[in-house]
Amino acid sequence: MKGVWKYLTFLLVFILILSAVLYFETINKGKNNSSTGSDSLVNANQTTNAQDNSFTNSDWIKNGGTFLTGSSLFTWDHMPISFNITSDCGNYEGNRIRRATNIIANDTDYAVNFTEVNGSADISVMCNRNYVAGSTSGTFESGNALPIFADNKIVSAVINFNKVNELSHNYPGGCLIYPDTEIHELLHTLGFGHTTKAKSIMTAIGGGCPTLDKDILDVLKQAY
Ligand SMILES: [Zn+2]
Repeated sequence: MKGVWKYLTFLLVFILILSAVLYFETINKGKNNSSTGSDSLVNANQTTNAQDNSFTNSDWIKNGGTFLTGSSLFTWDHMPISFNITSDCGNYEGNRIRRATNIIANDTDYAVNFTEVNGSADISVMCNRNYVAGSTSGTFESGNALPIFADNKIVSAVINFNKVNELSHNYPGGCLIYPDTEIHELLHTLGFGHTTKAKSIMTAIGGGCPTLDKDILDVLKQAY
């Protein structure tokens, strides 16, 4: 009997030591896991931040759209974006521009929104009566936009509308019932380039009264 107890005691001690070793190993593994976990979390956050402005898999890019800054969309760092309209635009074109800012705000659920100011603004909108020939024969340039980028951000922009005739109330640069050219130029000041997609507000040559693309709204709602 004594021999059996000795054996059992030895076995019990062996089991206790083994349990202790396994226990410590579990704790160590737990520590490793938790530190690995937080590393993964940091990486995941970094990836998420990087993806915020990179829309390579967005429908906008897949369907032929571009950004002015390459594969990533540069964004404004504040909302609302202020704009002023010079008196040369007159009421008719001025109201088309205001309506364009309202459509972008409304269609993005106010993720992007604008405020009109007098004097210094994020976006300066100017108008003139000049005929400007387009780069493609038979077209004229109804407007152009020049956003300024710095440190991966959009910091200011200028928009010009050409051939604006306040007296005739006839702006030949866009759709009569929808401010498509005005939205087009404002989208340039939000970093969007042209698209090869046939029916889009961002085709290089306008026509056919396109409305603001869902592909663009999806990107804007994600970016802001
Ligand atoms: Zn354009």
